[in-house]
Amino acid sequence: MNNIATGPSVSLWPHMGDKDFTLALRDFVERKVSPEADQIDRSDIYPVAIVKELANQGFSAITLPVEYGGGGKEFSYAVALFEEVSVGSAAVGVSLLTIFQAQTIINLFGSESLKQRYLPEFAKGLLASYALTELGHGSDIRTLDTKAYQDGNEWVLRGEKHFITSGSAAEFFVILAETPVGVSAFAVPRNSPNLSVYEGTNSATFGLRNGPHMNLLLKGVRLPLDHLIGTEGKGVRQAVTTLDYSRTLAAAISVGIARAAFDGAYAHVGQRVAFDQTILDFQGIQWYLADALTDIDASRLQIYHAGRALDSHDNIDRYGSEAKLRAAQVATKTASMAVQVCGAYGTMINSPFGRYLRDAKTYEIAGGSSEILKNTIGKYLLRGMKRAKL
Ligand SMILES: Cc1cc2nc3c(=O)[nH]c(=O)nc-3n(C[C@H](O)[C@H](O)[C@H](O)COP(=O)(O)OP(=O)(O)OC[C@H]3O[C@@H](n4cnc5c(N)ncnc54)[C@H](O)[C@@H]3O)c2cc1C
Repeated sequence: MNNIATGPSVSLWPHMGDKDFTLALRDFVERKVSPEADQIDRSDIYPVAIVKELANQGFSAITLPVEYGGGGKEFSYAVALFEEVSVGSAAVGVSLLTIFQAQTIINLFGSESLKQRYLPEFAKGLLASYALTELGHGSDIRTLDTKAYQDGNEWVLRGEKHFITSGSAAEFFVILAETPVGVSAFAVPRNSPNLSVYEGTNSATFGLRNGPHMNLLLKGVRLPLDHLIGTEGKGVRQAVTTLDYSRTLAAAISVGIARAAFDGAYAHVGQRVAFDQTILDFQGIQWYLADALTDIDASRLQIYHAGRALDSHDNIDRYGSEAKLRAAQVATKTASMAVQVCGAYGTMINSPFGRYLRDAKTYEIAGGSSEILKNTIGKYLLRGMKRAKL
C-alpha cells in the first residue's frame, strides 16, 4: 500500500483572476498552510500563527476600504484567497471567514465611530467570531434567548451563545441579542467584563476543526451605545445580508476542499498499479474523475461569478446561496469519490481524504445549511413572481 497523494506536478486549476496574486498565494499555502493542515485538524486548534501571518500580508482585510486600512480589492481577490488557502486547510479558510463576517457587518451597517474604532484593527489582524446561534436557536434566529437592554449610556447583554467558530482565539465578537424592538447586532470585545468563553459539551465537530466551537456566557456585559451595529431591531436582516456576502467565500472554501481531494486522488490513481496498468488507465476510474473535474470546474465558474455579483450588488442572496449550495455538495461528492478510487489508502487515518470528507460534509450545514440556502433561492423566485404580477 503506497502513500502517494501529494498532488499532480502540473496544476489543473488555472487562475481565475489576478495571476500573480494567485501564484503567490499558492506558494504561501504550499510552504506554510498545507504542512500544518493535518496537525490543526487532529488537535482541533485555531491556526493563530498562520492567520496572523496572512493578516500581516494584508489578506485578512483584503476587501475592506483603503480608508480603514483595508486592501480595497474586488471580491474576486477574496474568492481566490479563500479557495487557495482552503486547498491547504479548510480550517484556515473558516478562521479567515469568521473574521470576514465580523468586519463585513460593521463595514456595511456600523456607525462611523464604530468603523473608525474597529475596522483598522481588522486590517492589523484582529481575530473575530460571528455569534448568532444559541442552544435553542440555529436556523431560526428571529427570536433569541440572549437579551439586551439600554441602561443609561450603555447596552447590557445577558445570555449564552453556542457553537461559535474561532471562539477559542477570537479577540472580538459580533453577537446577536434580542432588544425590546427585535433582534439586534452588537460589537463585543473579548476582554469585556462579565463575558466568559468556554468549551461546551457540543463544541467539537468532526469537520472544519479550527478549534472548538465555543460557548459565550454574557452575564451583564456592558457596552457603549455605539456598539450597537446598525439599526436596533434590524439585526436579523443585517446578519443575513452579511451571510449573503460570506456564503460566496464559504463556497470558495468548499471548492478548495474539492480541489485538494481531486488532486490527491488524481496523483494516487496515476501511480498505483493493478492488473498491469495504473488505476487511472481503467476507463471506469477515468469516468469518476471526469465527473468530478466537470463539477469542480462548474463550481469554480460559479464562485467567481458570485464574487463579481458582490462587487456589483447584483442579487447577492441568489448567487451567494447558489454558489454555496452547489460547492458544498460538489466537495462532499468529490471527497467521497477520492476515497473510493484510492481504495484502502483513501480510508487511512494517515491519508488526508477523511479530513476532506469530514470538512466537506460539515460545510453542507455550517454557514447556511443546504435547506436554508434553497429556501433563500425559493424566496428570490417568489419575489420575482410577485413583481411579474404587479
Ligand atoms: C461547523 C459549524 C460551525 C458553526 N459556526 C457557527 C458560528 O460561528 N456562529 C454561529 O452563530 N453559528 C455557528 N454554527 C451553527 C450553525 O449556524 C447552525 O448549525 C445552523 O444554523 C443550523 O442550525 P441547527 O444546527 O440548530 O439546525 P436546526 O435549525 O435544528 O435544523 C435541523 C435541520 O432542519 C433543517 N431546517 C431548519 N429549518 C428549515 C426550514 N425552514 N426548511 C427546511 N429545512 C429546515 C436544517 O437545514 C437542518 O438540516 C456552526 C455550525 C457548524 C456545524
